[in-house]
Amino acid sequence: MLDLQALLTSISDRIYHEADWGQPAQYIPDLAEIEPAQFAISVCMADGATYSAGLANQRFTIQSISKVFALIATLGRIGDQLWARVDREPSGTAFDSIVLLESDKGHPRNPFVNAGAIVTTDALLSGREPKLALAEFLHLVRAMTEDDDIHINGAVARSEQETGARNKALAHYLASYENLFNPPDLVLGTYFHQCAIEMTTIQLARAGRVLAGLKGSPRVMSLNHARRVNALMMTCGHYDGSGDFAFRVGLPGKSGVGGGILIIAPNVASIGIWSPGLNFYGNSNAGTRAAAYLTQETGWSVF
Ligand code: GLU
Repeated sequence: MLDLQALLTSISDRIYHEADWGQPAQYIPDLAEIEPAQFAISVCMADGATYSAGLANQRFTIQSISKVFALIATLGRIGDQLWARVDREPSGTAFDSIVLLESDKGHPRNPFVNAGAIVTTDALLSGREPKLALAEFLHLVRAMTEDDDIHINGAVARSEQETGARNKALAHYLASYENLFNPPDLVLGTYFHQCAIEMTTIQLARAGRVLAGLKGSPRVMSLNHARRVNALMMTCGHYDGSGDFAFRVGLPGKSGVGGGILIIAPNVASIGIWSPGLNFYGNSNAGTRAAAYLTQETGWSVF
């Protein structure tokens, strides 16, 4: 029988032993300073048990993993209307790329590249004060996690706000195609704060239970929406590294430049991993390897 606790401990030991960490995101000053040699993994199982190894109580900003929660919130708010503004195709480009936006006439390829996430946040914002939209968003994340001790790291949000020239360029470019309904700076302020939500791997794994369809998880979304979000995580969750992640791990996942990864094993488990050093694609370097070790050993894969 699978001894998950022993497996997670051995994966954590292996990751520390390999000491192949990568470099934390350099373009957000507050992230650039983080010590890369850190690792955590947590797994929530269908029977309600949670197993962890490493620094599972360490908080990190979820960054682009927040795009999953923003997509869930937006689908709940406006449903399929979102797809008139954002496509559902892998982009094959970097997370912050602008190149396709011109040929695609301001219509982002998917909700997980930055341009698509900015449009999704705009849809989430429409008709409301940013503070209210953010409060409601945080409420959703807390409800999915069943834990109110989840907050926004204001310093990281400010750090990105002061330096996020590419995201500013993307937002203004989208506005030029009339695919932003709110002022670009207002949308960006909301987006940077949503990215700066801090969670531990335990909280992240708990938040993913509903996507994994685990019994007893809070019913904050329909099964149909969960399937669609999982499909997008599989095809687009790791930017131009999505094919490689599917090949190595075989499960839907969403990474963030804070080093977190949320991985969904449908009907089996929800997995949160964190290690702040990134690989070439901007995804957690050690975290991706740990995910591959886990699915190799457990056989969890949708294929
Ligand atoms: N806040 C980051 C940005 O917009 C998120 C990117 C990521 O996590 O991949 O650049």
